[in-house]
Amino acid sequence: MKVRVRYAPSPTGFQHIGSARTALFNYLFARANQGCFVLRIEDTDRERYREEALADIYSTFDWLGFRWDEGPDVGGPHAPYFQSERTAVYRAQAETLLAGGHAYRCFCSPQRLEELREGQRARGEPTGYDRRCRDLSQAEAEELAGRSAAPVVRFKVPLEGSTVFEDRLLGTIETANSEVLIDPVLLKSDGFPTYHLANVVDDHLMEITDILRAQEWLPSTPLHVLLYRGFGWEPPRYCHLPMVLGTDGQKLSKRHGATRVMEFREKGYVPEAIVNYVALLGWSFDDSREFFSLEELERCFAAERLNRAPAVFDYKKLDWFNGQYIRRLSAVRLRELLEPFLQKDGLVSTPPEEPEIRILEGLPALVRERLTVLSDVTALAAFLFREPPVPSPEELVPKRLERGKTVEILHRSLEQLEGFDARGDQESEESFRSLAEGLEVKLGDLLMPLRVAVTGSRVSPPLFESMRLLGESKVRERVRRALALLSE
Ligand code: GLU
Repeated sequence: MKVRVRYAPSPTGFQHIGSARTALFNYLFARANQGCFVLRIEDTDRERYREEALADIYSTFDWLGFRWDEGPDVGGPHAPYFQSERTAVYRAQAETLLAGGHAYRCFCSPQRLEELREGQRARGEPTGYDRRCRDLSQAEAEELAGRSAAPVVRFKVPLEGSTVFEDRLLGTIETANSEVLIDPVLLKSDGFPTYHLANVVDDHLMEITDILRAQEWLPSTPLHVLLYRGFGWEPPRYCHLPMVLGTDGQKLSKRHGATRVMEFREKGYVPEAIVNYVALLGWSFDDSREFFSLEELERCFAAERLNRAPAVFDYKKLDWFNGQYIRRLSAVRLRELLEPFLQKDGLVSTPPEEPEIRILEGLPALVRERLTVLSDVTALAAFLFREPPVPSPEELVPKRLERGKTVEILHRSLEQLEGFDARGDQESEESFRSLAEGLEVKLGDLLMPLRVAVTGSRVSPPLFESMRLLGESKVRERVRRALALLSE
């Protein structure tokens, strides 16, 4: 049987690391098994529905770079893929359950249910429906239908026995039916399904063979299996993925840092690094290999290598990963990724103009080794695009040198810089090396005031390459400015 999996988000909140992990594992499972990956939007809860949450689903996976084979935007044989457009299907299926005696109409008013709950709470009992409408006779039901508002449809959870299913990761799970939710509502009075009905019906009709989802859904699974039985359908194979925790062992949340996927984009993470890191949250290839492109993951992913133990999301490790990824990117790709950050910070025009374009071309080589996140580029490279803040004399004068000596260094450097644009890198370095010898200072001490004059800071990308991008006239202008400052 062809493997078919689905990612079934509810557009009520933003896509976070856990959601990306679920989607990615489903996608990889499909690819590794020559299967099909379906996106289904579970939008039946109209009160919690948010338009921007739906948009976030598209933009998140567009950014991460993987796509579904069937889904609302690409279509497919099981369309529509929005549950809100399938309500007639769920109503028909609810009728089937009613006819088979696996469900019943409940006429209890919200007010009665509230009173019931209050009474249960007051007596310290667990809250839940008292099954008053479960065994109504035909005549009683008709009589109630005549004088009640629209009924709901409830599932008849068997009163005895237990429900067993195999989880790929967790093994055999057996639950006493008395532990399952008491006769949950399948169809609300407005004709909209609840999650349980819509989810099970769609997984069956969309021919889903395997369900990989977060462990928080584990408590719902016995009920889902009972629903499959009620319908007379074969349940899919389940696999509940391990929790994602922070380094403190608590469930990953905003307290730990960013969790929304698009926030990682804003902070300057590279999508390839996020995909790779997220793939390792509960899965491993072997005990050592860590780097995988998406294509490699598609080939290597095997459910047998999923881990039952909770996964730990370590922000420091992700930073390291990101830095490694930045180092591996081609110059063209890195430039493409850096540009929006420079534009957002007002350093580069949209679209870039000359001479920004020339600087952008040289930028990847200059900053690649120094970036942890892409947004670091602004602090590192602002001096290439605009005048750096005027340095103070204290910054300009190296610790070991006098002010007078520093003035001499800058004067001589200024002379040395004449014709800089026309000379090669090696030649320039050699000329500064011999200048340092002539002045009897260390090369580092010679270059420090020059670096501060040109870049505005004691730490900067490589000086010669930076000066090359700035061009001789701008460099000399900044050196002159520093000299003027020291001679005030
Ligand atoms: N709509 C559910 C969610 O938001 C789907 C859970 C499942 O995969 O069954 O995660």
